[in-house]
Amino acid sequence: MQTITGTNISKAADLLVNGELVAIPTETVYGLAANALNADAVLKIFETKGRPTFNPLIVHVHDVNEFSKYASEVPDLVRTLAEKFSPGPITYVLPKKNNIPDIVTGGGETVALRVPGHALTLKLLSQLDFPLAAPSANPFGYISPVDARHVKDQLDGKIPYILDGGQCMIGIESTVVTVIDGKVVVYRLGGVSLEDLVDVVGEVELRINNSSNPNSPGQLKSHYAPRIPLRFGKMDALLEEFSGKKKAILSFTKNYSDDCIANQVLSYAGDLHEAARNLFTALRKLDNSEAEIILAEKFPEHGLGLAINDRLERAATEK
Ligand code: AMP
Ligand code: MG
Repeated sequence: MQTITGTNISKAADLLVNGELVAIPTETVYGLAANALNADAVLKIFETKGRPTFNPLIVHVHDVNEFSKYASEVPDLVRTLAEKFSPGPITYVLPKKNNIPDIVTGGGETVALRVPGHALTLKLLSQLDFPLAAPSANPFGYISPVDARHVKDQLDGKIPYILDGGQCMIGIESTVVTVIDGKVVVYRLGGVSLEDLVDVVGEVELRINNSSNPNSPGQLKSHYAPRIPLRFGKMDALLEEFSGKKKAILSFTKNYSDDCIANQVLSYAGDLHEAARNLFTALRKLDNSEAEIILAEKFPEHGLGLAINDRLERAATEK
């Protein structure tokens, strides 16, 4: 199969109507999309990614008003959050209606819904009479793509079309939330920070897991991983531990080029949004270096720093 990259929304729509896969741009990462109401089309996503089918997918719609088509209940707290953050990097886990096939939800009774904040994909969604199921457009477990080129590098020949929407402006996946007993529960840290959630709803509970979490089955311990082993922690200690090795270094603000063969500084200005936007591209670059080990620095534990640390921890190799 030939993989074409372009900006033709009608072509993308035609392929999706015909049950084919299309890579779509979002503000978080590129998604590998299929008609969410067509179980055969959704199955192709799992096959193409090598993704285990217990791992549920996010369903993308063009407007919050669509939620009630696919969710049997939309709590007021979700509407409050959506007013503030959607379209945007936040996903709501809600009780599903029967029109959502089991393969989308990993057999579970809930569906994850999101309105992506990307003009091209919103336009595409508004032209379709079905929602799009889409996980990140990369082989399962590898670093998420934040550029059409990253998708092409890994899925060339496996999908017919990549809708090119440029670089992803958030650069990490969405924050996944639900409402339990009148409280907002966070299953996954992402593009909307905890502080921003708390500003809107007062308090939130964290239920983030490091294994096959029954609450959020996709939150696997090992994910987002480069091929070169990666270690995560305080840079001084890591540099000492790996002093004899050929190193690549991922850092927040500080330049380490004298200490390694490849260094990616995520934000010289110390801006966590800029760092998040650069994270996955930087990891890919380091993974393409000749290093024996990638050392990744621990980020400040606030704002998007928490989501960045979450990704790096999952990318890290066990000791
Ligand atoms: P992604 O891998 O970025 O497509 O994100 C999908 C993630 O959203 C999964 O790995 C889960 O962590 C979460 N998710 C999706 N659907 C559900 C669901 N029904 N219940 C809980 N978490 C979900
Ligand atoms: Mg993913």
